Amino acid sequence: MNDSVAWRHITPKVEAINHRIRELEWEPARRNNFVAYTPEVGTPYVHLDGERFLMMSGYGYVGLNGDPRVLEAAKAAVDTYGTGTPGVRALAGTVPLHEELEGEIAKFFGREGALVFSSGYAANVGTIGALVGAGDTIFLDKLDHASIVDGAQLSGAKLTRFRHNDPKHLDSRLAAADKSGTLLVIVDSVYSMDGDIAPLPELREVCDRHGALLMVDEAHALGTIGATGRGIEEHFNYEVKADIKVGTLSKAVPSNGGYLCGSEAFLQYLKRLARPFLFSAALNPAAVGAALETIRILDREPWRVTHAQTESARFRSIVQEAGFDTGLSQTAVVPLIVGSDENAWDFATASRKAGVIGLPVMTPAVEKGRARLRIAITAAHSKDDVDAGAEAFITAARQLRLIGG
Ligand code: PMP
Repeated sequence: MNDSVAWRHITPKVEAINHRIRELEWEPARRNNFVAYTPEVGTPYVHLDGERFLMMSGYGYVGLNGDPRVLEAAKAAVDTYGTGTPGVRALAGTVPLHEELEGEIAKFFGREGALVFSSGYAANVGTIGALVGAGDTIFLDKLDHASIVDGAQLSGAKLTRFRHNDPKHLDSRLAAADKSGTLLVIVDSVYSMDGDIAPLPELREVCDRHGALLMVDEAHALGTIGATGRGIEEHFNYEVKADIKVGTLSKAVPSNGGYLCGSEAFLQYLKRLARPFLFSAALNPAAVGAALETIRILDREPWRVTHAQTESARFRSIVQEAGFDTGLSQTAVVPLIVGSDENAWDFATASRKAGVIGLPVMTPAVEKGRARLRIAITAAHSKDDVDAGAEAFITAARQLRLIGG
């Protein structure tokens, strides 16, 4: 590491992180997270060092990564538009395909319009920063995604946290807030490490009573909840609506990018004020083509959503029956909670030896003592895959005495 004077405060931090990595990775088999698996596209399998594994921790909820129609659409977009865009959206970067994708997203969600960002992270940061600033107050669920937290911090608004999925606590926070500015409540529709769903009707009621805007991040809700995978509003039978809906094109949709749904007037406002939209390159054509085709397929093939919902419920009951703590899970995201960070490493390693990948999530990403393998069941997993995966996790956990039996 550079030991010049200018680096004096950074070098010790870099060394500390590298020391911690060496501590955790003293055994090559423990290198679980930053491993470059080669996917066997179109299947839930991956390859590493000549071996084939069943991947049970991926985000491809509707199983469309590698679908021939999506591959074809990405290739056609490259043939027509090239591999890059000549600038940011406001300066030569917009191609007709961006607008087609925005139209398709709006139609899919039954909204007036949509705006596409270069990532879900950028969609959150850009939207929040355009909505609020000094003099306003943001209310975040304690488990909200980092991109929401970063957006809130960058915005300059006052930041308040409320207890996870607790509308009563939000109510008391709102009651105590300064009402002179905008009040903005932001929640994840589905929480990525726990797989539980935000109580939208109750949150809506509390927000309405206090005159607060309600924004939802649908990153893990698209393709997983609602009868046809349209997310949290569909999950609650369209009883209530969120004011602002943000999502990503990198999970159920096997691409990159983020989106926001809203009225035309609001989108025009965002196009001029959302800094990641204004100052970061337009989404590349291959990503746009893949996303557009995926949304179209999802609209025609709701069975993908039903399959993942049925199989995740079945997986959850098999592992619960075997004695696993699956925490708050109600969706395709099913954590297998095993206590200490060390337990999670050992469990991931033993599962991998049994041919199944379950990626460990530890502190600080989750509370101390609640480390887990974060499992996600997708439409790419057949019933046999789910059974095989469950059996491998159960056997590995029994060997390590993480569960009884
Ligand atoms: N929101 C949530 C809830 C997420 O889980 C993620 C990605 N992990 C994002 C936003 C960011 O999405 P992207 O990867 O497209 O930047």
